[in-house]
Amino acid sequence: MEDKHMLMIPGPTPVPEKVLISLGKHPIGHRSGDFSKIIAEINQNLKWLHQTKNEVLSLNVSGTGAMEAGMINFLSPGDRVLVGVNGKFSDRWAQICEVFGMETERITADWGKPLDTEEFRTKLEADSNKEIKAVVITHSETSSGVLSDLETISKYVKAHGEALIIVDAVTSLGAYNLPVDDWGLDVVASGSQKGYMIPPGMGFLSVSDKAWKAYETSKFPRFYMDLGKYKKANAKDSTPFTPPVNLMFALQTALQMMQREGLENIFARHLRLTKATRAAAKAMGLELLAPDDAASTAATAIRTDNAEAIRSILRQKYDIAIAGGQDHLKGKIIRIGHLGFISDRDVMMTIACLEAALTELGHDFAPKSGVTAASKVLV
Ligand SMILES: *Cc1c(COP(=O)(O)O)cnc(C)c1O
Repeated sequence: MEDKHMLMIPGPTPVPEKVLISLGKHPIGHRSGDFSKIIAEINQNLKWLHQTKNEVLSLNVSGTGAMEAGMINFLSPGDRVLVGVNGKFSDRWAQICEVFGMETERITADWGKPLDTEEFRTKLEADSNKEIKAVVITHSETSSGVLSDLETISKYVKAHGEALIIVDAVTSLGAYNLPVDDWGLDVVASGSQKGYMIPPGMGFLSVSDKAWKAYETSKFPRFYMDLGKYKKANAKDSTPFTPPVNLMFALQTALQMMQREGLENIFARHLRLTKATRAAAKAMGLELLAPDDAASTAATAIRTDNAEAIRSILRQKYDIAIAGGQDHLKGKIIRIGHLGFISDRDVMMTIACLEAALTELGHDFAPKSGVTAASKVLV
């Protein structure tokens, strides 16, 4: 049905009506006093969202652009970096390091498994010459629905002393507790189309004092992606280049909504939706890719040989978009996004429709088992 599309993918995520209305306003001059006030408010609220006193920079890039900027501003060619790789996105960060000529070491885990924190401890402790300059971690690996133990890995990086910890928090920021200062995270990247409840087009980076120190000796060439320019502009409630003015109207509104809901409530909602989705999948006899104690609160990956048929029924009959698998998991899993502007109702509806799709495909399971299991979690 026209205009009835329901997004249950881990990005882009649905956008609240209030935010859409902000997006539709007439743009204003980005050097005006009025816009300066908006930047000041946004910067304040971004710090709140990141639970940090660090500078949070806004760039007109997708999440990948934020990660690239977060690496090439603080490292140099030939630097030794450890990259935790347990899925599609984390592998991308290793590729970026390689493209830029860094000595890249992948610490891998199977897709569906969290990173092994002990492997990081061992490598960092063995590096007595302090050659490791950065550890790059994807907190929530969206391709497999896995959350890794970032807090523990960050402790090992702090104990090493020299290395920076650079984090892809694209699907954990705004979905899971991520206290940037308490955990001592140096560089944290995120993107607008995920937990922020606004459309794609912006990337964000929180940067610690330690990272800014490393910036002074970093040797990669950059111009548009030179974060020093963004820092300087931030101090004057400004931007170095023309920002996406309307997306920033939207961001202002979305951050206000998030503040009204409160961080604790946002995290609790994501956890509840995750538990409901997982309980429903299990009750319907489906296997989950990620273990319970390492489940991403942004997306749930469910094994099924009928992945593409299920997605097609949900899309065509019920106007619900869910994600499939990437690379070797294509056709083998479905991924239900429950990130950002998603409520209990959205998850209940998706599970009910998933049940109907499974029934249509002749899957053998107790009728209503998914909806019953999910509603038990949501009461
Ligand atoms: C979506 C996503 C990204 C960013 O992807 P872009 O398409 O560049 O915005 C990065 N990491 C993870 C874990 C993601 O889910």
